[in-house]
Amino acid sequence: MAFEGLTERLQNAMSKLRRKGKITESDVRDAMREIRLALLEADVNFGVVKDFVKTVRERAIGSEVLESLTPAQQIVKIVDEELTKVMGEEAVPLNKAPHIPTIIMMVGLQGAGKTTTAGKLAYRLKENEHGRPLFIAADVYRPAAIDQLQVVAQQVGAPVFQLGTDVDPREIVRQGLAQAAENKNDYVIIDTAGRLQIDEKLMQELADIKELAQPNEILLTVDAMTGQNAVNVAESFNQQLDITGVVLTKLDGDTRGGAALSIRAVTGKPIKFTGQGEKLTDLDVFHPDRMADRILG
Ligand code: GDP
Repeated sequence: MAFEGLTERLQNAMSKLRRKGKITESDVRDAMREIRLALLEADVNFGVVKDFVKTVRERAIGSEVLESLTPAQQIVKIVDEELTKVMGEEAVPLNKAPHIPTIIMMVGLQGAGKTTTAGKLAYRLKENEHGRPLFIAADVYRPAAIDQLQVVAQQVGAPVFQLGTDVDPREIVRQGLAQAAENKNDYVIIDTAGRLQIDEKLMQELADIKELAQPNEILLTVDAMTGQNAVNVAESFNQQLDITGVVLTKLDGDTRGGAALSIRAVTGKPIKFTGQGEKLTDLDVFHPDRMADRILG
């Protein structure tokens, strides 16, 4: 289960506080040490942990908390609030274009779940908004990528614009956008190429596609199971492309929590959705407060 270790350790630290009637500053410091270790073991970014612990400690040792009738309860509330804050406070909706189509560019490393997420997103737009999305198949490096997109698109019931693997992806995007204008699609979802690692040529290609498509949304898909690596990937993509949001996939697995708790603080960009499985319906809007509750258990 996701966050299992983290939840257990945070709960342990909290129940130790609850067992004490009166809480002293030194009790708070002990609890903070445990929370710090729990977060580091969950692979949360070091700087994020440091700031988090400092803020919680400062708030918790204030006299209103320690001299209140329910100090442990107040400290739990502070931890909950600060976890929420680290993850961005509010859910951030998908950007929309003032005129159709809204253009969504999907980016990410191979295997992170980009194509699956593109399908889930199209499904959501169709179901919730009666949207008419068009996919553009701009991953020309893996022939299987276009096939996979077509399978997903068929499940969703949305068309794919593709020109095979011999055409420059920039040209594919250009023609795909023209087709979307002609068909009056209200959403265009561009499935770009992924690689196993970040490389300059790919980044240049993505920057070119961004430049010509002027997307309203550049959604980076990262795999929650990869912890700090997901955070580093997010930082690199953000530096190169100025992404607008992140989709954190595979939260149905036993991820430790590092990516969920670090990405917003490190990149300044919101997690907009989470992937909770392989089915088209397994995409949730990311609510920082609900995630904090889930982490605290
Ligand atoms: P891409 O290379 O980034 O396009 O990744 P894919 O969309 O092909 O996904 C890679 C694998 O991860 C596939 O087997 C997907 O079914 C799986 N996957 C994607 N998202 C999720 C998720 O949220 N949860 C789980 N359990 N698997 C996922």
